[in-house]
Amino acid sequence: MIDLLNLNKNELRDFVAALNEPAYRAAQIERWLYHEFVTDFDAMTNLPSDLRARLNQVARIGAPRVIAEHSSADGLTRKALLQLDDGQTIEAVLMSYAVGAFYQTPPQDQTPPQDQTPPQDQTPPRCTVCISTQVGCPIGCPFCATGQAGYVRNLTPGEIVAQVLHFARAARPDALTNIVLMGMGEPLMKFDITWQAIASLTDPARFGMGARRITVSTSGEIPGIERLTPEKSQVNLAISLHAPDDALRDVLVPLNRKYPLRDLMRAARAYAEQTRRRVTFEYALMDRVNDAPEQARALARLLRGGGATPPLLCHVNLIPLNPTRASPYRRSPEARVLAFEKILRAAHIPTTLRVERGIEIAAGCGQLRQVNESKNE
Ligand code: SAH
Ligand code: SF4
Repeated sequence: MIDLLNLNKNELRDFVAALNEPAYRAAQIERWLYHEFVTDFDAMTNLPSDLRARLNQVARIGAPRVIAEHSSADGLTRKALLQLDDGQTIEAVLMSYAVGAFYQTPPQDQTPPQDQTPPQDQTPPRCTVCISTQVGCPIGCPFCATGQAGYVRNLTPGEIVAQVLHFARAARPDALTNIVLMGMGEPLMKFDITWQAIASLTDPARFGMGARRITVSTSGEIPGIERLTPEKSQVNLAISLHAPDDALRDVLVPLNRKYPLRDLMRAARAYAEQTRRRVTFEYALMDRVNDAPEQARALARLLRGGGATPPLLCHVNLIPLNPTRASPYRRSPEARVLAFEKILRAAHIPTTLRVERGIEIAAGCGQLRQVNESKNE
């Protein structure tokens, strides 16, 4: 049966036409799906009952089943383990950022990207949904619970969007202010799938989230970055760097063996120059692995570019590693984190230190799934 969330605009229009229904039914159905978040055709009360009956026969509305949900003690982070129709599980997280959620605010002379700005008293708090794009992940980063668990399959566009609708149903829909594709999986590996999901999330007739409020995080899938660049879509790009040189990055982010740093930085520069958007570089600090002062200096050099190269429009997000069960990597001690940050700032690289969120509920990428599986072992 066809999952209506998998149909793009044209496909939904054709689907309605094939049912011999007038075109405006497509808009009505879109409203029910993406504004009212219904999961049942019988709830679509402005559709004639015979149409609802036919929809029940030929279509469905994908809605993952919650098999575990954990909230942090402060209630600001909610993580859901969701089961898909074929029994596979994925994670999605809702994070609220209250005032003071950052260790420190960037100094006055550094303009942080819009979605990194710590909320001021008068601005409403941010509420970010973090969603998955694959069941598992083929990249296999050794510090990441998802990478350790292996790869099963891509999600469909509908399965990606359904995670946002899941939280929209529970929270006030207008309370969701940002979406990050930072859950399980590599979002740019199957660009068309991810792009179709983003189109549904940004279409005003559908979920209607501003593209500037959506961030795609990639481990360095250059062809995907190159396809994102000409779209000029205003979607934010985050690149998971984690190492300033190829030798270390080959180990920490194995995709580096295919797309080495030189080429990755060239793609990041092209993105920043053509879209005039600031690229975020994620850097998870691991004790005595990638957190030495000389590595901070190497990172600053990499981002500044040498000689006549103009500085790259970028921002570094330092993340204290969330250690996973099966990996030998440990979180950097605070003193090393602060020293690393200081070097980047001294080199005029805009830097923020991401607060540790939801570690008590195993909210690191893929970690709730890992905990749940070990309970069932
Ligand atoms: N696959 C994509 C997006 C999902 S991972 C990517 O790698 O960018 C989202 C972010 O979480 C990435 O920056 C990833 O490197 C980081 N991450 C994964 N495991 C982590 C851990 N144990 N501690 C801290 N960050 C982690
Ligand atoms: Fe995949 Fe990202 Fe985890 Fe690496 S960090 S294994 S790319 S999900």
